[in-house]
Amino acid sequence: MAMGFPDHRPIDAPDVTPELHMLRIAEIQLPLDHPEADLRAAILARLGIPDDQLLSVSLFRRSYDARKKSAILLNYSVDVEVADEAAVLQRQPAQGKAVSKTAIVPTPDTNYHFVARAPAGLRQRPVVIGTGPCGIFAGLILAEMGFNPIILERGKTVRERTKDTWGLWRQRQLKPESNVQYGEGGAGTFSDGKLYSQVKDPKHYGRKVLTEFVAADAPPEIMYVSKPHIGTFRLVKMVQLMREKIVSLGGEFRFEQKVSDVVIQDGQMRGVVLESGEHIEADHVVLAIGHSARDTFQMLYDRGVYMEAKPFSVGFRAEHPQSLIDRCRFGPNAGNPILGAADYKLVHHCSNGRAVYSFCMCPGGTVVAATSEPERVVTNGMSQYSRNERNANSGIVVGISPADYPGHPLAGIEFQRHWESRAYELGGRTYDAPGQLVGDFLAKRPSRELGSVIPSYKPGVLLGDLSTSLPDYAIDAIREALPEFDKQIRGYAMNDAVLTGVETRTSSPVRIRRDDKTLQSLNTKGLFPAGEGAGYAGGIMSAAIDGIKVAEAVALSITGG
Ligand SMILES: Cc1cc2nc3c(=O)[nH]c(=O)nc-3n(C[C@H](O)[C@H](O)[C@H](O)COP(=O)(O)OP(=O)(O)OC[C@H]3O[C@@H](n4cnc5c(N)ncnc54)[C@H](O)[C@@H]3O)c2cc1C
Repeated sequence: MAMGFPDHRPIDAPDVTPELHMLRIAEIQLPLDHPEADLRAAILARLGIPDDQLLSVSLFRRSYDARKKSAILLNYSVDVEVADEAAVLQRQPAQGKAVSKTAIVPTPDTNYHFVARAPAGLRQRPVVIGTGPCGIFAGLILAEMGFNPIILERGKTVRERTKDTWGLWRQRQLKPESNVQYGEGGAGTFSDGKLYSQVKDPKHYGRKVLTEFVAADAPPEIMYVSKPHIGTFRLVKMVQLMREKIVSLGGEFRFEQKVSDVVIQDGQMRGVVLESGEHIEADHVVLAIGHSARDTFQMLYDRGVYMEAKPFSVGFRAEHPQSLIDRCRFGPNAGNPILGAADYKLVHHCSNGRAVYSFCMCPGGTVVAATSEPERVVTNGMSQYSRNERNANSGIVVGISPADYPGHPLAGIEFQRHWESRAYELGGRTYDAPGQLVGDFLAKRPSRELGSVIPSYKPGVLLGDLSTSLPDYAIDAIREALPEFDKQIRGYAMNDAVLTGVETRTSSPVRIRRDDKTLQSLNTKGLFPAGEGAGYAGGIMSAAIDGIKVAEAVALSITGG
């Protein structure tokens, strides 16, 4: 029997304001701290028109070029509305196949366009598992298209979850179902909220993500700054507002509802089973479970869903004074509010064939306890929007691959567990993390006393010797890399900088493969593996983009499009 659902579909309304009759001008370079009027003057000069013909200007992108620290430049791309667009375009030199960076071009259409709409009398609602960025965006797009998704989350609502997460950080009390990895908002809720990603995005899904974030009270500048970030406190509120929007569009959230089994018949998804025993029939299930749902990976493996071991990285969090990074990156311009706290990106290819690189760098932030399992220690980083804590922190991690944990698709999980348990032991079995000063780590002696850098990890850091906290090849690689990093950031290998271990959850240890076109599991029709846990994303933005893609695939599969 056809089931009726309330029709909240906004399809006939324009999705966002159309950007018609706009021109894009890129590569406008001006000195840091230039007067505001200079930007308009530079735009007029590029357009070759008088002031009264420039009707509006909006920023598309603002980045900085800090290669010359004493003369840092701001680099703008802007969209403008002019009285006579055709005349401006006609004056442009003819472009070959490769359009010059400085050419003035019609602003491309970056609006989001829905690919389908739910049929009247939708037979069955799609299910989304997980409310991280991937699940939220899959849920939002499905709701906007009228599919009334059911969104299941094992953890609690974001407000309740915040208390539980802080419970580990302040009172050493871990709640295995409500923590930094599990709960509304997913793994990135207590984070720096960096939103940049290097995924290819020809359909401009990233604009849709940013637009929705701003509608949910994110700082508006995330639309144009080159390295946007949001910070933890704002993320919590945004997650709540996005849920309210999805519910208003006909989506339904169910918290503290762990999917503990799936029903697969003849290679086709038929439904999910909750820990409570409740069955939900569903031929279309988005699997957006993140990289830490180890029990769910095991359950899916036991049910025969195809998966493979995947490379990831392990290492430590390194903490340095933020002022050291600012000075190194910005010289005399350190502290300029337009630049904010400086970040860095480092990589070194070691003589043992390993690559060591900085991961999830958090300027002006703190190192956080990120385990979801009892008696294990995992580090990660977060910051607030202001990024004004004393320390800069970053994962310093070593790439590893299934050759390091051979034999079974889930062997990477056992590898992670082993080293997370070891870190718990080295930290004194209290959820303190083991730590060592960089100087001592390089000199191969245990640390006894902190120097000028006070580590931020809560509940605490137990100083000692990290040399047995990771496999030898990883320790050797990090020992080789730190002095190399010091050549790029003078002081990076300073004696007092602190390493805190261990960083093991840099990305998923498995890939749940899907068909490139239908985005359905290779051997389970109707199952749409998505986001970081399935190995298709590596951060908030890429997970959210993948959620959009998968929602479209679900919609097309249901409508036969
Ligand atoms: C402390 C920290 C800081 C980070 N900082 C950044 C950053 O600044 N920028 C950035 O881009 N990325 C950051 N990341 C990484 C980012 O959070 C992840 O890449 C992103 O959240 C992945 O999104 P996802 O939706 O795929 O999975 P997740 O966000 O992990 O969400 C998965 C959700 O599924 C739920 N779930 C799992 N199993 C089940 C089940 N069986 N039943 C029901 N629900 C289930 C989980 O509870 C969880 O809420 C950070 C991560 C952490 C932990």
